[in-house]
Amino acid sequence: MKISSPMEIWKYLPGTNCGKCGEKTCLAFASLLKERKKKLEDCPPLFEPEYADKGKNLAELLAPEVREVEIGVGARAMKIGGEDVMYRHELTFFNRTALTYDVWDTMNSEDLRERIERITKWQKFYVGTFLNVDAIAVRSVSDDARTFAECVKAISAQTDFPLVLCSFNANVIEEGLKEVSDRNPLIYAANENNWKDFLDIAKRYEVPVTLFSPDLDMLNRLALTFSSAGVEDLVLDPGTYPTGKGLEETFSRFVRIRRAGIEEGNKGIAYPLMSVPLTAWIDGDGDKAEDALSSSYWEGIIADLFIIKYADIMILHSIEPHLLIPERTLVANLYTDPRRPVSVEPGLREIGNPTADESPLFVTTNFALTYYTVESDLNSNKIDSYLMVVDTEGIGVESAVAGGQLNAESFKDTLESFDVESKVKHKTMVIPGLAARLSGETEDVTGWTVFVGPRDSGRIPGWMESNWPPKNAH
Ligand code: SF4
Repeated sequence: MKISSPMEIWKYLPGTNCGKCGEKTCLAFASLLKERKKKLEDCPPLFEPEYADKGKNLAELLAPEVREVEIGVGARAMKIGGEDVMYRHELTFFNRTALTYDVWDTMNSEDLRERIERITKWQKFYVGTFLNVDAIAVRSVSDDARTFAECVKAISAQTDFPLVLCSFNANVIEEGLKEVSDRNPLIYAANENNWKDFLDIAKRYEVPVTLFSPDLDMLNRLALTFSSAGVEDLVLDPGTYPTGKGLEETFSRFVRIRRAGIEEGNKGIAYPLMSVPLTAWIDGDGDKAEDALSSSYWEGIIADLFIIKYADIMILHSIEPHLLIPERTLVANLYTDPRRPVSVEPGLREIGNPTADESPLFVTTNFALTYYTVESDLNSNKIDSYLMVVDTEGIGVESAVAGGQLNAESFKDTLESFDVESKVKHKTMVIPGLAARLSGETEDVTGWTVFVGPRDSGRIPGWMESNWPPKNAH
């Protein structure tokens, strides 16, 4: 990363502290620019003639080490690349790996429609949100331009998912592109033989283009040729070879390219990378492999490897849940921001149909993983209850007790902030077993009766049998 301190950004800002960016000072704005929480456009004075040079310099300084490329349009558009670091813990990764699943132009219309349906409708609930996949790759198997164009047309009528158009035949690509050029698809792929035609198409239609070559010198030359011709929205595919030495060398190429782009500042190769784990379905002779189970297994292994290092987009074939779930979950986990725990809003939730006099009030933290575990345990066991979520800055129970974010005062603040007393009349709360040592002080500070619940929310049903309703309840 080029910037180590907000001061390096601040010296390019107007320095008037005018507040038009919503921050009190230019330095505060500089801090947010560094974190990519604000954009240059948020500082209007920077675009006045007086500051034009500074603005230009700042734009260059803030450009990510790896170019960011957008595919698709509107709400479904996805950004890939745009990374600044080799390792997530150095800052964060910004644009998650785009998972793209294939269809092909020799499918009959019913199979095509059904496969598109399965790809676009798939979702998995995970830590408070639904995970989806990102795009559809349309492969030309027929190598016939009209057949490909008809297939692209049918797909675009069915879904607004971003598209990757795949063929090494420029005529085929152009016919398909005519159907969807307004949707900013990624075209795949220019190589050492067809690059002139692809360059021409990419310029005329202004779409991002993938460059393919396992030879890194050739890949670099292709990238320089395209960028010097004004086509800079590039994606690099250094080849994905699924077995043995080929896989080992594939891995090495991905690491070398990313290292050259980020650590060595080689702008000529600092573009998003594409991996194609789908190659696990092709045997050594280029035909479709016979053993589907083995192919899907290896496709999953290869996908996981290149999600971690350093694919920004990948083309896959298997759409069975046993592959979609681990692949998409790995992407979700790798691309969370390590600087911020994943959290939920604090407050008072109702689980089922609780009643003010009889239903227990459980307490948890706003660390998302803890919250959704407790909520799910209560819901799945049909325990009508209240769940009070304390703001612990997204930290889990044990660490928040140790760090002081969860204490008698934070219980009291949450009770008051969300007017819990008006909804829960028995004034009894059940705190997590891992916060047991806070029980006495919490009773003193809040005036509520405190029960210590189990350490594991999965044991709440058993705990309820012997503890709720309270023995002295009428
Ligand atoms: S709008 Fe620009 S000049 Fe004004 S305070 Fe923000 S950063 Fe500074």
